[in-house]
Amino acid sequence: MAQLDISEKLTILADAAKYDASCSSSGAKKRDSRGGKGMGSTMEGGGICHAYAPDGRCISLLKILLTNSCVFDCHYCINRKSSNVRRARFTAQEVVALTLDFYGRNYIEGLFLSSGIIRSPDYTMEQIVEVARSLREDHDFRGYIHLKTIPDADPELVRKAGCHADRVSINVELPTTSGLKRLAPEKSETRIEGAMGSMRHAIEDGADARKRYRSAPLFAPSGQSTQMIVGADAATDRDIVARAASLYGRFDLKRVYYSAFSPIPDASAVLPLKRPPLMREHRLYQSDWMIRFYGYQPEEVGAAADPATGMLPLDMDPKLAWALKFRDHFPVDVNRAPREMLLRIPGLGPKAVASILDARRCRRLRLEDIGRLTVSVKKLRPFVIAEDWRPTILADRAELRPLVAPRREQLELFAA
Ligand code: SF4
Repeated sequence: MAQLDISEKLTILADAAKYDASCSSSGAKKRDSRGGKGMGSTMEGGGICHAYAPDGRCISLLKILLTNSCVFDCHYCINRKSSNVRRARFTAQEVVALTLDFYGRNYIEGLFLSSGIIRSPDYTMEQIVEVARSLREDHDFRGYIHLKTIPDADPELVRKAGCHADRVSINVELPTTSGLKRLAPEKSETRIEGAMGSMRHAIEDGADARKRYRSAPLFAPSGQSTQMIVGADAATDRDIVARAASLYGRFDLKRVYYSAFSPIPDASAVLPLKRPPLMREHRLYQSDWMIRFYGYQPEEVGAAADPATGMLPLDMDPKLAWALKFRDHFPVDVNRAPREMLLRIPGLGPKAVASILDARRCRRLRLEDIGRLTVSVKKLRPFVIAEDWRPTILADRAELRPLVAPRREQLELFAA
């Protein structure tokens, strides 16, 4: 590996980290960070991304890889062994120094650290843990740390990662077993899920100990998350929704991140040539929201998909697609319906529903009252009954669709 200075390493290893979506990056204008430069840049190029802390605060993280060298050869990954990319590697102490430097200058509030696998999973995990240990113990670093852990590493090392990190993540990579076998043959679903199961127990034990003894050390207090690549294999949206729901249930995950597959230079012939529409990733996040915050069962979300292809519609959100498909559940009387039915009205979120439940204790709600709680009363009108409103167009899906679906220009704006 050629001798590189810190700034060159940072450019390579921050760029290599952009493919990892699992620190809920937001605010970045585009995925390709080659255009941006500068250590302090809060946009592209400086390795700084934005994430949401468990309390909802938006925080800036230094998002880098320890190295983009890897002994594995996952087909979808730009850092795979056979990839012809420029390689770089930080030492643990270089990452510590960079983090402290950026933190001291107020550029970041924390670190997101992942890595390719060098020498062995255990060796790599030791290096990752050493960064977090040194930050916490040698430098009393109180910022946020998110560590990507390696499922094949010694469980004791993975546990140590949880002792220093706020959040840990283990990527399931592909939504289906067959996809993982085909595109990441050196990885094993059993080992990945085994590591996630052990992490769940360790996090629960840590939380229990804290309840009993206030002096017990924190263990990954922000929980664990995972990431799935969308569009690299043949998994349908229905498969992805079902897998995500199962992961949430079995491993008590804080988040599942969906990352639309990006074609990479010198790609393996087994990969698709085109990336899936970014809107597909967005629809999957919306379906995830429906399960976690709106009370839908995964099969219900799956029922909003096209029965022939298993894909969610791209031209409308899955909650609206569900409402159009199951018209017999509507209109919903906003003055009488229980919370779970109010949550199914397109255009109303948990906050708006809480306001309706609150307000209707004192008075009967009119359409304009509900209109104040939503961005688009037009979208909501066909699905509600209010004191002064009862929809007359209770038509079928085909007639309603143009009335409530987003306009083409809105979709194009999003895609841009
Ligand atoms: S193990 Fe990780 S870094 Fe290595 S090739 Fe696979 S996905 Fe890429």
